[in-house]
Amino acid sequence: MDVRILQAVLAPKPSVSFEFYPPKDGAGFGRLLERAARLEALRPDFVSVTYGAGGADEGRAGRQEASIRATEALARATSAPRLAHLTLAGHSRPELERLVRRFLDGGVDGFMALRGDPPGGPAAAWQPVAGGLTYARELVDLIRRQCDGPIGVAAFPYGHPAAKSLEHDAEVLAAKQRSGADFALSQVLFEAEAYFRLVERAARHGATLPIIPGIMPITGATRRERLELYFGGPLPAALAERVSRAKDRDELARVGVDWCVALADELLAGGAPGLHFYTLNSSLATETIVRGLGLNR
Ligand SMILES: Cc1cc2nc3c(=O)[nH]c(=O)nc-3n(C[C@H](O)[C@H](O)[C@H](O)COP(=O)(O)OP(=O)(O)OC[C@H]3O[C@@H](n4cnc5c(N)ncnc54)[C@H](O)[C@@H]3O)c2cc1C
Repeated sequence: MDVRILQAVLAPKPSVSFEFYPPKDGAGFGRLLERAARLEALRPDFVSVTYGAGGADEGRAGRQEASIRATEALARATSAPRLAHLTLAGHSRPELERLVRRFLDGGVDGFMALRGDPPGGPAAAWQPVAGGLTYARELVDLIRRQCDGPIGVAAFPYGHPAAKSLEHDAEVLAAKQRSGADFALSQVLFEAEAYFRLVERAARHGATLPIIPGIMPITGATRRERLELYFGGPLPAALAERVSRAKDRDELARVGVDWCVALADELLAGGAPGLHFYTLNSSLATETIVRGLGLNR
């Protein structure tokens, strides 16, 4: 078992991790490897690749295959431990077992166990597959039977869009921990307070696993819609105002970096065990933030 990821999330010094998404084509693959190699200089504690994200439409199978290839290719660009995201959506139990084996044979060190979204998006009615699973907690169980490496799960500072309540969401996180999850990565957030409330709520329901906040730098004029999509809500008013006042892409990038540095400082000062960067396969903003925080080693 590779214990580096677990040591990193449990260590007193903050962990730093980077998330990538599977590129669509060969050029995208080249860029991913180049950006990952650049971020390797910051010595991340682990890197992860999303799996088939974006709904169960007809392009999904291709994106899933791309996730597997991207996870394998990252081994060439980085020596950091690798986490494979795996979603249960659209797969039967035997398919999931084969996928876990394939990722392990490809050299991944651990998994993010996720449900994935139904075709209509995160708030749409769930569509089960014959012989498949329904909740991420069951996927944690399935992976745990084949893998003794670290397993992470999703946590939602503002609640999952389909959750009955914030309290129920916290119970779901506790159930994932009981099934064997070692840590959680949070959905993107822009206010430290939302993270602290999540940790407090989770602990009340027995979810004491380390929860690493998700940070997504704003890096260009086109990114606001994408940010709100990941974030699941409107940007905080003060950030939205600065974003809309930015005169050009450079100024917008500075706004995004400054906001994330202040946010990350507050998160770490308040006890967050690390920072998970949604890099969007771009390296400059993430690099500036990590260096700005003095977290490069
Ligand atoms: C860090 C992170 C990484 C992600 N990576 C990906 C990715 O790579 N690919 C991708 O497609 N998506 C990804 N997602 C999105 C994720 O798949 C969706 O948000 C999905 O809708 C929920 O996944 P989950 O793992 O939290 O599911 P679950 O924990 O199964 O929760 C799903 C819903 O079911 C409810 N629920 C859970 N258990 C029960 C129960 N016992 N009874 C009643 N209700 C219950 C929950 O409250 C929630 O509303 C990621 C999200 C995060 C935060």
